[in-house]
Amino acid sequence: MLTALREDGTLFQLLPRLSKDVLRKEKAGGHYYCPECKERVTMKIGMQRMEHFAHQAGSQCIESYERESSFHLNGKMQLYQWLKEQKLYPRLEPYYERLKQRPDISVDYSQQEYAIEYQCSPIPPQLMIKRTNTYRKNNIDCVWILGGNQLKRKSEKKVSLTQFDYLLLNKTPDGKWYLPYYCSNSHKFVFLTNIIPTSAKNALTQFSIFPIQNRSIQQILTHKMNEFLYAKEWRNEMRAQKLRMGMNSHSQIDYLKELYIHHLNISLLPIMIGLPINHAPFIETSPLIWQSYLFIDLFRNKKKDEIITFSEVYRCFMHRVQRGQINLRTLPLIENYSITVPLIEYLKLLVGIHVLEAINYNTFRLKADILIPDHVVSQQKQEEHFYKEFHQVIFRV
Ligand SMILES: [Zn+2]
Repeated sequence: MLTALREDGTLFQLLPRLSKDVLRKEKAGGHYYCPECKERVTMKIGMQRMEHFAHQAGSQCIESYERESSFHLNGKMQLYQWLKEQKLYPRLEPYYERLKQRPDISVDYSQQEYAIEYQCSPIPPQLMIKRTNTYRKNNIDCVWILGGNQLKRKSEKKVSLTQFDYLLLNKTPDGKWYLPYYCSNSHKFVFLTNIIPTSAKNALTQFSIFPIQNRSIQQILTHKMNEFLYAKEWRNEMRAQKLRMGMNSHSQIDYLKELYIHHLNISLLPIMIGLPINHAPFIETSPLIWQSYLFIDLFRNKKKDEIITFSEVYRCFMHRVQRGQINLRTLPLIENYSITVPLIEYLKLLVGIHVLEAINYNTFRLKADILIPDHVVSQQKQEEHFYKEFHQVIFRV
């Protein structure tokens, strides 16, 4: 951290930066204490990392969860300077006595108070949720920014995301998913936008990279993004996932066993299994798997013209959740979170691709018997035809 209390209770701040000689004199002048836990902290004036205050080893202070790396210290300093250059009055590590919390930076902007949490290493989920809720209750908007060191880009439009990354997943007011990063080595913001998970770990996304000096706080807070399409990538991901599971049966043994019991073959699944929906991030389990379970538990048993209700879909889905075969995600930054949202989207998509016909909001009719391909060649033909016909519906062009 970059601030500490002096013995007389006044705050000492390491920004703007002072020379090492001045700091050594200051350090010899007395002891320093953590504004949060009031434990004694040591001023570190080294060659490797920028000067900072550190807790003693084994400290229980929440602050010491984040053993501050150079990456974190530098980023915090750069973000603070960046806000200052915009003629704002950022506060560095302000301790909110009544909240018992201390964000990295806080700033008032456009009549709103913001707390900026720059997260270069994971913290326990309960702690992140507690912090978020406390800010929210006190009418402070919390802006979580991940350290660029956390970003695991796998290819042009593919990223690997951890459970902790997902905790910080956010949505723009117009309903688009995004995750902000800041890299203190390259001095750049990296925004992942239009995130759509393809499996528990991987997601398709658009990477937008901006040098910090080219962005204003306004642009960071109201991130505008374009609709982005992953038609080709999505199909490739689903195909690769099927292939992978087929080759390495240990990874998803329960799921594959269940397909087997119901005489289904991973490479010959009906076309309605493995489709992208907007609220897919609510569900940790791969769309291929949860949509397969819905098919096995419900759609497989229905014939043309039979009725399917939303409550049936919900019941089947939740049954698998209770059995631990489908996992849901915790998304603390998303308000009005409800697991009904992705299920309704899936049903609407099935209406869009002419599998179902909507009778009313809750009730649907199966338009035709669901085709299960009997051979890889016919499966590929079906798939080709399907994506050509319904491209616009599936990828919302
Ligand atoms: Zn402390």
